[in-house]
Amino acid sequence: MEFTDEQIDRYARHLVLPEIGDGGQGRLLESKVLVIGAGGLGSPLLSYLAAAGVGTLGVIDDDVVDLSNLQRQILHDTSAIGQPKVRSARRRLAEINPEVKVIEHAERLTTENAIGVIEGYDLVADGSDNFATRYLVNDACFLAEKTLVSAAIMRFDGQIATFKAYKEGEHPCYRCLFGAQQQDIKNSCADVGVLGALAGTMGSLQAVEVVKELLDIGESLSGSLLLYDSLATTFRKIKTRRDPACELCGPQATNFAQRAKLSRGILRTLSSDREG
Ligand SMILES: [Zn+2]
Repeated sequence: MEFTDEQIDRYARHLVLPEIGDGGQGRLLESKVLVIGAGGLGSPLLSYLAAAGVGTLGVIDDDVVDLSNLQRQILHDTSAIGQPKVRSARRRLAEINPEVKVIEHAERLTTENAIGVIEGYDLVADGSDNFATRYLVNDACFLAEKTLVSAAIMRFDGQIATFKAYKEGEHPCYRCLFGAQQQDIKNSCADVGVLGALAGTMGSLQAVEVVKELLDIGESLSGSLLLYDSLATTFRKIKTRRDPACELCGPQATNFAQRAKLSRGILRTLSSDREG
């Protein structure tokens, strides 16, 4: 790929890294990444991906900027209060790197639109703030065969994992780790709080893992769960395994999943199981 003088300047620190170089930078420029949520995790994640020159960034969020967001959602500023987050995010990302194409999806991810939205991208990064969305993103990424980098934060704790259960081998999915159901019982950041800078740590880790997956460098976080305890200042990396009984990616589910992929009914079925 031929770089302009401006690109050679802008990406100089990537170009000198043997693991990235011209080939890797070219790959980043051609990559399309969908980020779920332009909030606490999405802010550093999108900022670093834009700065890195990931060519197309999709942002899906149906929320507007609220004063209480600004303690951690550093994509947005005080003047953006009341504006759609996707609009505010796009404006800021264009300032960071005007050559990145930002696609606004000012909607909620649902069982109806999930696969259609995800299919247009190479990789998905989930920075949503609730279990229902995390399960939906996991299921849709499995069915659409997209690698997923998923992170979550609460109080002083963060976690991150990469999922590519659509591949053969020891690649568990989100359901393998957390079971078929997790209820959103009074457990959101709004209820229990979250340290603002923790979003910076975990969203930045997500950006690193996204770039590694896009370039296929280093050791993938698939098959591992990384836990960060900010009060103790400890990182713990746990090995994770596929659950043979997983209703999405387990062996007995494979045929079901493949059939349902054609009908796309599986998202509805799995979601209604969860809600029921
Ligand atoms: Zn699974």
